[in-house]
Amino acid sequence: MKPDAAQGGERRAALALLLRAARPEMPLLKRAVWWLALAAGLEALGPVLGKAFIDHYLLPRDANLPAIAGLLGGALVAGCLASWLRYGQLVRLAGLAMRSVQRIRESVYGHVLRLPMSFFDRAITGQLVSRVTNDTEAVKTLYVQVLFVMLDSVIMLAGMLLTMALLDWRLMLIVALLVPAVVGIVWLYQRLSAPAVTRSRALRSDINAQAAESIAGMPVIQAAGAAAQFNARFAATNAAHYAARRLELRANAWLLRPALDFLNVAMLGAVIAVVSLRTASGSTMSAIEVGVLYAFVSYIARVTEPLIQITMQFSQLQQAMVAAARVNTLLDEAEAPPARAAGQVRAGAISVHALDFAYQPGRPVLHGLNLEVPAGRFVGIVGHTGSGKSTLLSLLLRFYEAPPGSLLIDGQAITDIGDDAFRSAVGLVPQEPFLLAASARENIDMGRGFTDAEIEAAARAAHADGFIRRLEHGYDTPLGEGGARLSVGEKQLIAIARALAGKPRILFLDEATSHIDSETEGIVQQALTALRGQVTVVAIAHRLSTIREADEIVVLNHGRIAERGSHAALMAIDRGLYQRLVQLQQLEAQEDPPDDLQAGARP
Ligand code: ATP
Ligand code: MG
Repeated sequence: MKPDAAQGGERRAALALLLRAARPEMPLLKRAVWWLALAAGLEALGPVLGKAFIDHYLLPRDANLPAIAGLLGGALVAGCLASWLRYGQLVRLAGLAMRSVQRIRESVYGHVLRLPMSFFDRAITGQLVSRVTNDTEAVKTLYVQVLFVMLDSVIMLAGMLLTMALLDWRLMLIVALLVPAVVGIVWLYQRLSAPAVTRSRALRSDINAQAAESIAGMPVIQAAGAAAQFNARFAATNAAHYAARRLELRANAWLLRPALDFLNVAMLGAVIAVVSLRTASGSTMSAIEVGVLYAFVSYIARVTEPLIQITMQFSQLQQAMVAAARVNTLLDEAEAPPARAAGQVRAGAISVHALDFAYQPGRPVLHGLNLEVPAGRFVGIVGHTGSGKSTLLSLLLRFYEAPPGSLLIDGQAITDIGDDAFRSAVGLVPQEPFLLAASARENIDMGRGFTDAEIEAAARAAHADGFIRRLEHGYDTPLGEGGARLSVGEKQLIAIARALAGKPRILFLDEATSHIDSETEGIVQQALTALRGQVTVVAIAHRLSTIREADEIVVLNHGRIAERGSHAALMAIDRGLYQRLVQLQQLEAQEDPPDDLQAGARP
């Protein structure tokens, strides 16, 4: 029974999450319960007034008009008051629910922002998005539909059972049999539908993920002519989702309404039978019993309604719990621990001591790396693909945790530097330039609140100022999603400007020149050289010309440093790795004819 136990734990955690979200609303919730109880009480009054009319006026044929008008007026007022109270509470609870959703959604998003980079190695964007949007929304269902309807129904049920007990407790006991019968049906329903609900939710999230992924990768999909395969994969997921939903709906359709409607009829029969038996066994049906019978018949019709409502809400509850459990699983992911340290970056000198690192245990990526980068120096890192260059940068950026003591900045452990101090002192130009769907200005600023002058100075330093000014609205031109309207080289220049805007002490570049033409590369090279002495630069470069002027070039090979030295020194190593890399690139450059000729030369 292990899976059940696990599910129980999940359920408890999900409930805890929902309660936590609603905690600030508790006083409101309590007040709503009182008003709902009053509404239910007023509602339960109806049949009692009917019974009074039958017993005191109808059967004795007593046409006491003022008294009858009083009864009628009482019933009317009670009905109106009950409706008004119920409507008011529904509005309140809806407000409560929306505030709770807002709170949960903000906390989930905030949490995602603080997750360690390693989480995103295995995260699927679409699923994450679905957690933040759909799953948190399901929580609203819980408050508006489930909580409101359930509370309303339970209170109404209790009120009616109480009134029936006061009228005739034996008959009430018969009606009360409905409760265990309904509970049994609900239990069966849960057994049958829970797996289908979980499955259909998971599949819906897959549908989201697939759609998001293919939109992001549209150029690749269309160029590879893979549209049909993607369509088929999407259709398969959709079909599985349909099947799961159908199972769920079947359980719904058979177990909820029809079974309960049948119970209703059976109960009516039972009450009439008992009253008939009582009448047959001697005493003639007294006037009082007619009124009671009327009240019971109308209560039975009303009692099943809240019971049906309660059971119907179980499927909603089921879904909300599943959604809450998924949100909870995400919230349980450990956040990157905040560096409580107070260390500062002053000069920006980097030391790497005997650094070993593996993403997965037993599969080392870096082996015993040693490296000293004095402040203000320019170091280039080269090496074959997969040699660990980006990994080294990720560790220096604290995206992953390096073994203690292996990374130092200005002589202090990298973990001893405060978060804010670290992020403002370190700039990154990543391998894939990431642009927001915003203006050039906002992309350089990235919400850090720089002045226009600072932004433009950074753009000039990155040599991005020229092309930005040529856009139709200059710095305020929207760049489209992911900077779609810029060339890759231009995106890269914006990314460099963004990094420089923070006036970093240390600047990391990961293949910042791979996608730009030789002329633009020359510009970036100038920009980097101009930073010499002011900013420590560590640049990974595929294009060796970018780091030709570096103070030191480090050649990585399978996670180890193979060679190091200036360009001239490395070129002097006979049959050295660097020398061969340079020769290879020169050969490539010679063999690659200009693009227009190349296209023409193809058969
Ligand atoms: P490239 O020039 O292609 O960018 P690189 O030198 O930057 O290559 P890294 O990205 O550092 O190479 O990767 C080094 C090794 O670590 C590779 O074998 C890669 O498969 C592995 N690796 C990289 N990132 C991860 C990750 N997040 N999880 C597991 N393994 C990873
Ligand atoms: Mg890389």
